[in-house]
Amino acid sequence: MPLPSSACVLCGKDGLHDRVCGFDLCSVCGFGNLDSGLERWGLTLEQRRWREQVGSGDNKSMADGLEVKVSFPTKLAAQAHFRQETGFDRLGQWWKATEPQGDEPLFDRAIFVDESSGADLTTIVRDEGVQTAIMELVATGGVRLGDGWVRARRLSSMAYPEFSETAVPLVLLAVHLETCAQLIPPDKG
Ligand SMILES: [Zn+2]
Repeated sequence: MPLPSSACVLCGKDGLHDRVCGFDLCSVCGFGNLDSGLERWGLTLEQRRWREQVGSGDNKSMADGLEVKVSFPTKLAAQAHFRQETGFDRLGQWWKATEPQGDEPLFDRAIFVDESSGADLTTIVRDEGVQTAIMELVATGGVRLGDGWVRARRLSSMAYPEFSETAVPLVLLAVHLETCAQLIPPDKG
């Protein structure tokens, strides 16, 4: 059965697209050609690369860093740092207090939220597309949410961090957040 044709969420072109982070995405945008998508959604992307020494003693090596930051136009009253739950980390008290039902158990287990604040965050993380994008980004590092921006950093001594692997889910997360921000009444919070 042929798949239905759909419009790419970033460039708007019709065609057969992959489902990525809750959106239909064409292969051109999927490979990291994001200019038309950024323009359509009013997003700004900044990237930075650097090299730094990691490890200590005999285990010193050089690592390549990549930071991508995407700003979106509508402000959200939410700040958070999402990263993979490790060791003795526990889901934050804030998380427990605001999500008592735990209706997203997979997400709850996998993600550690810290430095979170703002009433809008609860609404935002209920969105399935937001969760998918965050899960994708924490798998390769972490993602930080600020007032109108999201930022992901990768540091690797094994392979040069691929721009598209970080930038594509980050831009899609920004599109989800921009959509959420437009739905939240500005007088709330
Ligand atoms: Zn596209």
